[in-house]
Amino acid sequence: MSELKTNLENMKILFLALSFCIFTRYSIGSPIENLKTNVESIPTVKVLLLIPKGEVNLDGIEEKISIALKVTKEWYANQLGGRTFTISTSNIEKIFLQESVSQFANEGTRKSYSAEICYQLAQKYSNVKTDDPKNIWLVFIAGGEFISHGGSGFACMSSDPFYAVRHRTNINTITGFQAIVAHELGHALGINHAEDWYNNRSLMGRWGGVLFPDKTFLLDSDKKILFTSPFIRKPESP
Ligand SMILES: [Zn+2]
Repeated sequence: MSELKTNLENMKILFLALSFCIFTRYSIGSPIENLKTNVESIPTVKVLLLIPKGEVNLDGIEEKISIALKVTKEWYANQLGGRTFTISTSNIEKIFLQESVSQFANEGTRKSYSAEICYQLAQKYSNVKTDDPKNIWLVFIAGGEFISHGGSGFACMSSDPFYAVRHRTNINTITGFQAIVAHELGHALGINHAEDWYNNRSLMGRWGGVLFPDKTFLLDSDKKILFTSPFIRKPESP
């Protein structure tokens, strides 16, 4: 466990320098153990779209997210022999915030939201929580810069791919956005960055998005973890 922790610390340092995104653990305790305790309902992925107050261009955002979710769901099924996640409803839950984009900016982050702010906002307006045995929470924010991150059953990202990653190259595309969704969902489901960070064919590598979806893959070690997740199942199973 301490070795794992050390690895995570090392990874964190690496992320700060090279980030595709930030992998954050919000709480201690085992998500897998928590998840196993609830077998009454099908664990699903819930999708929220946070819309800040003021002039926010919402054109096409919902459709873009819906398509990304569909592509990502199919991609995971292809990678995992038919098993994939289930989305709780076909509608994206839109939440209109009282806060404007400018209220999130500060000296440290300039125009960017921080991961903590996203989580706090989502908590304020919904019953989002980390390590939730019933739901993985995928949160999108419209209309501002935000560096995507995920972990512990929760992920948050900008609805604009240009702002969703730090290096901002080769990813400002529709498939780039879809790759970000798949990547952050991977974190939320419990998988970390690729052992080979520069493997551009791994979803969890630094360049995991550039070849998505057709030439991007999950490593066997990723699959092993996902197969233990209650959120990953055959679509037809109860
Ligand atoms: Zn990442």
